[in-house]
Amino acid sequence: MIIILVISGLALGSFINALVWRLHKTESSIKNKKDKKYSILTGRSMCPNCQHKLSPLDLIPVVSWIVLKGKCRYCHKNISISYPLIEVLTTILFIFSYIYWPYNFNGRGIIYFVIWLFLLVGFISLAIYDIRWLTIPNKILVWLFSLVIIQILVTFIFYHGGLHYLLNNIVGFLIGGGIFYILFQLSSGKWIGGGDVKLGALLGLYLSSPTYAILLIFFASILGSLYSIPLLITGKASRKTLIPYGPFLIISTFILILFGSHIRSWMHLKGLYI
Ligand SMILES: [Zn+2]
Repeated sequence: MIIILVISGLALGSFINALVWRLHKTESSIKNKKDKKYSILTGRSMCPNCQHKLSPLDLIPVVSWIVLKGKCRYCHKNISISYPLIEVLTTILFIFSYIYWPYNFNGRGIIYFVIWLFLLVGFISLAIYDIRWLTIPNKILVWLFSLVIIQILVTFIFYHGGLHYLLNNIVGFLIGGGIFYILFQLSSGKWIGGGDVKLGALLGLYLSSPTYAILLIFFASILGSLYSIPLLITGKASRKTLIPYGPFLIISTFILILFGSHIRSWMHLKGLYI
């Protein structure tokens, strides 16, 4: 199982690199949008700098980067270390998810796990995009929403999710999206971006629990503060600096999916009921 996860993690990490780059190319110019070579589905892999087509030997995750010493074979320009790092990160998150998966690996546990791995691919892409360009692309959100709706339908139809389950999804959606929507409206989009509202709603829907939706926002705010306060103190950022919020929401979701039940029982022990 670990071998399968390593291979798929590296391959999908490599896919994430290509996806994020192509998505940005096509989103940033109308001319590129029509250009088939940037298509995610049909375009061939190419060097981000000279755009030379890459041979299969250049496309082995991590290995190619090391063998080529981080340079393109054709134009000799440096290829960012972020490429192999993203491949490694994806693999580590896959293995970590497998080790700490809260369900049994039978029946719906496996279905949820496979959906989770595909969600992770979208989450990582989205986080990188948000860090680099401070927006959350709708194309990735649509893909993530589809996966979450598949999971909800599977649970509802085959595992007797029931109305209570659906209601939890809807309340999660309303809390996750609603709090950010209010912040967005109050600040006319200065404190939080429109993409964060949609992402909050999506994650609330997926977490399928009002408690988790509240914890999602709570953890993301703590992580966001831990990240930005040192930057403010050292003067590396001002109050006007835009800080991507998507990655914090995604890290919080990762924590809640894998360790949510532990956190919940700890809270009950301490008499904290939400
Ligand atoms: Zn090149």
